[in-house]
Amino acid sequence: MRRKLVAGNWKMNGDLATNARLLDRLAGAWTRAERRSLAVCVPAPYLAQAQAALQDSAVAWGAQDVSEHRSGAYTGDVSAGMLVEFGCRYAIVGHSERRQGHGETDARVAAKARAALTAGLTPIACVGETLDERERGDTEAIVRRQLAALIAVLGGDTGRIVVAYEPVWAIGTGRTAEPADAQAVHTKLRAQLLAAGAGAVSILYGGSVKAANAAALLAMPDIDGALVGGASLDADEFLAIGRA
Ligand code: PEP
Repeated sequence: MRRKLVAGNWKMNGDLATNARLLDRLAGAWTRAERRSLAVCVPAPYLAQAQAALQDSAVAWGAQDVSEHRSGAYTGDVSAGMLVEFGCRYAIVGHSERRQGHGETDARVAAKARAALTAGLTPIACVGETLDERERGDTEAIVRRQLAALIAVLGGDTGRIVVAYEPVWAIGTGRTAEPADAQAVHTKLRAQLLAAGAGAVSILYGGSVKAANAAALLAMPDIDGALVGGASLDADEFLAIGRA
């Protein structure tokens, strides 16, 4: 079944005191009666803090990346097993800031998704085109290629992931895709997932989602939720998106 999910990506933001205020607000305000799931993906050093603050709440937590390896000589990396020890439910994989800033290839992103699933985490796998690619008319080809790489590695387990369509030009820019344009891409992704026997995968939209534009985006039939960057650092904004 397609789950409604609003997930926050804190990116490399936060400190112990600010996090404590934000996490307490979310834990206190979000109840199990809400119709969709709320989650925060925090920087790795704050996973223990998120776990302590959220473990008795209806809010889930996760990481922003995960290693494709189980253990070993991978300095700076964090394994899926380690994330599980801190109670994570989700791990973002293939965020454009990692594809671009850390040279992560489609194959590596798929290997990370596989490692997450093997450990019992739900990967939130990001796909999306750059502005150049969009202007060249390549949006569909790019997201199709990125999703195909995931399907090739995950096979019958594709149905266990969450996909996030995040046009790179909309991330952190204040420029959001028009709901109909986002829906058009989600329709293509849905068709590709259906063909892979994974039509019930939730597809989130991400890219400058705010309380003011969330309702219009989330009203689209194939947009099952949102991956929220900047606005997830503000409890009121994030809760309003969750309830949009
Ligand atoms: C993101 O980082 O995944 C994101 C969508 O960021 P923002 O909401 O700030 O555009």
